[in-house]
Formats: sequence, structure tokens, C-alpha cells
Amino acid sequence: MTVSLERAGAVLTVDLGAIVSNWRLLRAKLGNTACAAVVKADAYGLGAAEVAGVLAEAGVRSFFVAHPGEGIALRGALGGDARIFVLNGTPAGTEVDFAAADLVPVINSLAELSAWRKHAAAAGRPIDVALQLDSGMSRLGLPSRDVAAIADDWTRLEGLRIKLVMSHLACADEPRHPANEAQLREFNRLRAMLPPAPASLANSSGIFLGRSFHFDLARPGAALYGINPTPSAENPMRPVVRLSARVIQIRDVPTGTGIGYGHAASAGRASRLATISIGYADGWPRNAPAHAFFRGSRLPFAGRVSMDSIVLDLTDCAIQPREGELVDLICEEQSIDDVAEAAGTIGYEILTRLGRRFHRRYVHAEPVIEQPDRAPPYDRMMPTVAIQ
Ligand SMILES: *Cc1c(COP(=O)(O)O)cnc(C)c1O
Repeated sequence: MTVSLERAGAVLTVDLGAIVSNWRLLRAKLGNTACAAVVKADAYGLGAAEVAGVLAEAGVRSFFVAHPGEGIALRGALGGDARIFVLNGTPAGTEVDFAAADLVPVINSLAELSAWRKHAAAAGRPIDVALQLDSGMSRLGLPSRDVAAIADDWTRLEGLRIKLVMSHLACADEPRHPANEAQLREFNRLRAMLPPAPASLANSSGIFLGRSFHFDLARPGAALYGINPTPSAENPMRPVVRLSARVIQIRDVPTGTGIGYGHAASAGRASRLATISIGYADGWPRNAPAHAFFRGSRLPFAGRVSMDSIVLDLTDCAIQPREGELVDLICEEQSIDDVAEAAGTIGYEILTRLGRRFHRRYVHAEPVIEQPDRAPPYDRMMPTVAIQ
């Protein structure tokens, strides 16, 4: 359901130029390490086809999604030779889908490994795969004993070409957390038991932990979309998202008037209220004390967030919006991380749950088409070991 920008109740503006510039900033930090883009969950809600499209143009060669279906859709949008890794396993029977869309499965268990080995034998050709190792997060990937089982018997890898050995950090956003070094050591120990292959450990925050975490390929998601990868310091990323909602009614009420569900607020004096067209059904957190902004002026929420609307108190605001005008909810004055903190969650959740009801507008605040990336893709920099 889309209506024109002029009529839309709420507008989500995604700055694709800022996403590209964030990717470049991360790549610059990475030196010779290649920089992929994680575009799972529809690029954290921002539109995987649009986001991956501009990133591929800017030189991104490797993309990560969570589900095979996301990979198939992304291949349709990207075409071409981008490498698409699927993180969340390979349900039996999806092997043909992986082949048809040229997706690389990330293998998380010995059972999956053996299914893919059989599949390669049946297909009569080697198949590209990635192996995920559990270096200490206890979420996905081959645990130490399974890596040892592979090390004891490399025929388990027969017919598979290991394009990437990867693991994921549990505490990368806390640079001083001892788990980071522990996972780094464990990742190095485990991958040394396997045939040499390009390696990947760092997510957005992992990139900021230093060279030893970079390996051959980094896998940022959140930082590309403007979420702060270094929560204890200033955000080095450019903001990507602006969320605006339309004022659909303005009213003046006398002292003592109850406002919204449960009359959770009431006017302590004669007040001017504005109702805007966004609510928790759009993914706006119901429990976040927040403000809207209009030309630099702060407009506090009054009472509870409804499903489709929020009431603002304009009484003290020098610059007041009129009916039909847009006010901002995510903007320079109020970042995704600010909203997340107020709601007791993380920027990732705010971003991924922003609803599908908005009018979406893609802008390029900066030219995004320029020289192709000069750095060779990581798989051409590293020896690839084929085990047949
Ligand atoms: C989601 C995810 C990423 C990206 O993490 P960010 O913190 O968003 O940069 C990288 N690797 C894996 C395995 C993931 O699941």
C-alpha cells in the first residue's frame, strides 16, 4: 500500500548515499580486508534490493542474508556475480534452491555438512560452502568437538570448496569485554585445525576492535545503517534514516482535559495538542518517552502511543506545525540509538521493526556511482583450497 508522498501518513526516508559512505568508512578502517554487507531482514528493514543495489555498485562483492528465501530474492534483485551467503542453515530440500540462485550455504553442523557432501557427490561437481565455527557465542556453528571430528577426517569435506570459515562475536560492542580476546583465540585455534581458507570474524563493532579481528572479510550490518558500532564513544557513522509523521489534527483543550487511552495524561493548563499519524502498529515503541521535532523545536508526547497515532503537546513550542505538515521522529535531534535507549532496547530492534506502512523514499544525498572498488575480492587474495 503506497500513497503519494503528499498524502502519506508517515514517511521513512533512507539515504542510500549515507549507506555507501558508511561502507567506505568501514572499508577504510579495514585496510586490505574486504568488506561485505549484511542485508538480512530486508537490510534491517530498509529494503534489501535498494540497499544491496547501491552497495554492489560501490564495490561490495559479498552479501549475507539469514534465510534462503532472502537469498533468492536478493539474487533476483542483484543478478550478476555477487556472492550471497545464507547464515541460518539449510533446511533439507533447499539444496536445489541454493544451486538455482547461486547461494553459498553457511554450514553450522556436522549433519548439514554431511548432507552437502552427499549433495555434491550426487551433483557430480564441487560445491562452494562456508563453515561457521562456534568460538564462544553458543548460538550457531560447529562446536569445538565437531571441528575436531572434521580435523580427524578431512573426507567429511569431500566435494566441498571452503570459501569462508567464519564465526561471530558475542560482545564486540564492549571493547574491554574479555570474551572478545577469548573468541579470537578460539577462532584461531579452531580454524588452524581445518584446511586453509579465507576467514571472517568481525561484525560492525568487531571492525573497531583492531587488526587482529579483521581477517580476510568483515561482515558489518548495523553500522552501514547508521547505528553506532561503538556505543561507549561518539557515533562515527553517518545517519541514514529519517522518520517523519504527518499532523492530522490540531485542537485546543482547557485545563484538566484527559488525553489519549487511559487518560494517562491530562492537560495541566489550557493546551494545544497535535495528533500525528504514526503509532505502535508502525513499529514505534509504545513505551519510549520521546519527542517529535519540528524545525528544531521539541514537541513532547502527551499520553500513550496509540496503534495509529500519537498526541503531541504543542503548548510551549515557539514554532508549531500546522495540520498537514510533517514532524520528525528520527532525525538529527533524535537518533535511532536515542529512541532505542528510551525504549530500553537496541537500535537494531527499532530499525528492524519499523513498519511497512510508511511511504518509503530513497534519496542519494551524495553521488553513489563512482570508480569501482579497487581492492580485489577476498577470494582472489587468498588461496582457496579445493578438496575433491
Ligand atoms: C547479523 C550478523 C552480522 C552483522 O552484525 P552487525 O552487528 O549488524 O554488524 C554479522 N554476522 C552474523 C553471523 C550475523 O548474524
